[in-house]
Amino acid sequence: MIIFVPFKAKKVIKLHDTYFKPFITAQQIEAAIDTLVSQILADLGDEIPVFVGVLNGSFMFVSDFVKKYPKPCEVTFIKLASYEGVKSSEDIQRLIGLTQDLTGRTVVILEDIIDTGNTLGEIHRIFKNEAVKALRIATLFHKPEAYKKDFKLHYIGIKIPNRFIVGYGLDYNNLGRNLPEVYQIKDTQHMTNLVLFGPPGAGKGTQADFLKEKYNLVHISTGDVFRYNIKNETALGVLAKSYIDKGALVPDEVTIDMLNAEVEKNADANGFIFDGFPRTNAQAKALDALMDEKDSQINAMIALEVEDEVLVQRLLERGKTSGRADDADETVIRNRIKVYYDETAILKDYFSAQDKYHGVDGVGSIETITARLSTVIDSL
Ligand code: AMP
Repeated sequence: MIIFVPFKAKKVIKLHDTYFKPFITAQQIEAAIDTLVSQILADLGDEIPVFVGVLNGSFMFVSDFVKKYPKPCEVTFIKLASYEGVKSSEDIQRLIGLTQDLTGRTVVILEDIIDTGNTLGEIHRIFKNEAVKALRIATLFHKPEAYKKDFKLHYIGIKIPNRFIVGYGLDYNNLGRNLPEVYQIKDTQHMTNLVLFGPPGAGKGTQADFLKEKYNLVHISTGDVFRYNIKNETALGVLAKSYIDKGALVPDEVTIDMLNAEVEKNADANGFIFDGFPRTNAQAKALDALMDEKDSQINAMIALEVEDEVLVQRLLERGKTSGRADDADETVIRNRIKVYYDETAILKDYFSAQDKYHGVDGVGSIETITARLSTVIDSL
């Protein structure tokens, strides 16, 4: 089974100068070890095996594995060195070889990970002259796409894509071995995060559609997420609808939790365009904290500036086709604009104080405005 689903609630970590994202949970590792134990037990029965761990990476796996192995067994280690940084190197050094006679014994190698199979080649060389009864290979993680050898792998815990991983015994330049779960190297090491700002009808959504393509960013519109939930009649949707129909803001706590979840869904993003968020001081602070957690930041707030009467006309026009109840009623529209000035516009100060506020004239053709926004983004 190949696990691609990153787990939630834990964050991106930094080892040396490199970022890694959550990949395999401690629970998933434990389940894989349980399966390995039962498979090996089923094959070996009452025979007393010698489990040979391959240091350094396998120490945690061996420890957890043998604790779960319910029958008598022996445990020993060999030490090989193959990794320099993130590349699997051809050159394997034998640092500690076998220290006991294994003649006639059934040996099960316990490897943390098998990728190219170079280390395995060296293991087979070590055992060539030992008259063992059987040599079996068990590995917790396996990268089938990287595997270049023909040696049989008898027991495989979790198959993973050919990407560098760290944690649960595996290191990145000596760091990360102590992590109880596994992390995968992040595609994107640096992010561009933009807040697209402006009153309702300023054209944030329209512009975000162009900018996300141009700059390869993930567009998160909290209004769209709410509408999606309303359409699907989720609990969140039902709650949000009562506020949205009046043109009022959905409570911060609900909105912030939802935004966090949307960001977490895109752990590999190059960056985000936040559209319709933040709308309050509390949301702005929550967004800063979230970016901080990802070891990133908001690079700019870009505001589309449009006069109120133009906004009202645009929204009424959009209401004819958008199907949005909050676009159809002039009173609701005016209330949304008022809410913007009363509650949201203060965020201009919040971002100005950090020297991140950029105002852009939001009246003109779509292309003209995209060009104005691009000028700001390119200058960041
Ligand atoms: P929008 O599509 O951005 O115009 O949002 C439509 C409606 O969704 C707003 O009038 C609010 O009721 C609600 N909403 C969207 N984003 C937020 C937010 N960040 N905080 C609170 N309510 C929001």
